[in-house]
Amino acid sequence: GEFRLLDFDRLSVLGSGNGGTVHKVSHRRTSALYALKIIHRGHPGAADEVEVVRRVDSPHIVRCHSVLPTASGDSALLLELMDGGSLDSLVGGGFPEAALAEVAAQALSGLAYLRSRRVVHRDMKPANLLVSKTGDVKIGDFGIAEVVSRAGKYRAAYEGTAAYMSPERFDTERSRDGGVDPYAADVWGLGVIVLELLMGRYPLLPAGQKLTWAALMCAICFGELPAIPDGASSPALRNFVAACLQKDHRKRASVADLLAHPFVAARDVAASRRALCQVIEERCR
Ligand code: ATP
Ligand code: MG
Repeated sequence: GEFRLLDFDRLSVLGSGNGGTVHKVSHRRTSALYALKIIHRGHPGAADEVEVVRRVDSPHIVRCHSVLPTASGDSALLLELMDGGSLDSLVGGGFPEAALAEVAAQALSGLAYLRSRRVVHRDMKPANLLVSKTGDVKIGDFGIAEVVSRAGKYRAAYEGTAAYMSPERFDTERSRDGGVDPYAADVWGLGVIVLELLMGRYPLLPAGQKLTWAALMCAICFGELPAIPDGASSPALRNFVAACLQKDHRKRASVADLLAHPFVAARDVAASRRALCQVIEERCR
């Protein structure tokens, strides 16, 4: 390829997780900035992540320009730099509804694209939605994504973060046998993301409660949705969230349904984008 690892200077660390570390880097000759995600060879799922990022290319997915080998045998993904960071850093400071509608609309476009490529993301959460200062929202981190077979099955090799897992995914036997729409879990995750940004904290457990696996499983599979005060949101937003967070995956809205939902379809696109840019700008200061 045209890029080599030694052509880049590492500037700072943008984030790190189970899979590896993400650095902000600059290309020496062009001074162009990128994000470089090192995936450790020993990490289970490393090969899957590379396979999936090679399979996808869309304005609503964080673009991978190149997959580079490292001296130690790891892989490095050269990603487009999202200069607004990830949405987890925007939780807690208030999020106007117009900006939320923009996040939802663009994330749904990303999910619609993934569906067209038969990819399930399986790790939809604020830390994995990235934004630019110009108001683009893109899905990133394909660390546990899977390609779905034509029969609707996938390997489900690794669990996602329990806090964002849909009820049917706690029932692993059932999810594996192909009787469940695999794409419905990503819609659930989007619902949790929207509610978290709205409420300013993880929404499915009471404030302050520890996010243990057992508490999360109970709340997600059997608990009621938190009440959103009428004054704090429009009926369209509450209806949108409820449609995403239907516990029964067969009743949950599909990505196509949600793209036509008034909360996103009837938004003022220019105003929503401006509202989102403002949230990002305030938080980047
Ligand atoms: P895994 O979930 O597979 O363990 P991870 O969580 O370590 O992966 P990512 O989610 O891809 O890896 O990246 C970790 C963090 O780094 C993100 O939450 C985000 O804050 C930052 N980051 C990742 N990619 C980019 C990017 N392209 N531009 C800017 N920041 C990024
Ligand atoms: Mg991540």
